[in-house]
Amino acid sequence: MVSSARSGLVLVMALLSAAPAMAEPMSAGPWAALVAPAADQPSSIGTAAAGCLTGARALPADSVGLQVLRPQRNRFWSHPRTVDFIVQLGRDAQAQGLAPLLVGDMSQPRGGPMAFGHGSHQNGLDVDIWFRLPGQALTPAELSSPQAVSMVKGRKVNSKTWGSKQLRLLHLAASDPRVERIFVNPAIKAAACKSAKGDWLAKLRPWWGHDEHFHIRLSCPSGDTNCQPQAAIPPGDGCGAELSSWLNKNTVLPDLGEKPNTRRPDLPEACTAILERPGAREAANR
Ligand SMILES: [Zn+2]
Repeated sequence: MVSSARSGLVLVMALLSAAPAMAEPMSAGPWAALVAPAADQPSSIGTAAAGCLTGARALPADSVGLQVLRPQRNRFWSHPRTVDFIVQLGRDAQAQGLAPLLVGDMSQPRGGPMAFGHGSHQNGLDVDIWFRLPGQALTPAELSSPQAVSMVKGRKVNSKTWGSKQLRLLHLAASDPRVERIFVNPAIKAAACKSAKGDWLAKLRPWWGHDEHFHIRLSCPSGDTNCQPQAAIPPGDGCGAELSSWLNKNTVLPDLGEKPNTRRPDLPEACTAILERPGAREAANR
């Protein structure tokens, strides 16, 4: 769930380490090397932290109110229902004067573990949206190497960067019934709890990092029996004791960065066939 702007060197190194290596089917590398989706019915298989994806669709590059960050990573794929949600969010953001939204990582063409950056985003239900609202379109060069802006200073939001527009954007995203939860820095959840009310606050889940972007996770598509739902959100708005435990000044803040992924989750059996499906190396039609 961590994503931040890093030098191109990290990307190049990650791409090199993502060489075909089909003899090692369950490592992160081969999933990152797949450039085209598996053309089956859309299905989110397994969980966000151990899963894969069929029937993925690319977020259209010309979507209203949206710009895709770091398109060179080829992580702009999702379950079609997730794509529909993001497209709608872009339109709504445009109508509310928040556009363009900067869309960070979604999933790889067939989902699966990523070579660097995230432990999740594996089954086409996760998308990162940046809090930074530039107010005007970024250039292609800026999109490929964007500047992230933190909304947090220590254990509080930074009033120089965080404001009512960011809160409105979170509310907009959380109000969509397809959205199950949104990971935000604990300081951001605290700021939302302070200035807003409503059931939607429950969907904001505190997690370290997530100070430059928020991470939206959709619920399993109905009828998709391959998709393993996450445990339900605890009752209440989560603004009380649970949040305080994150913000306790004795809690040591972790050192977060975009590191190579060494974790090798056990993927569902069905993912093996999806990884080996022919046509994987056709150029993405984009
Ligand atoms: Zn994320």
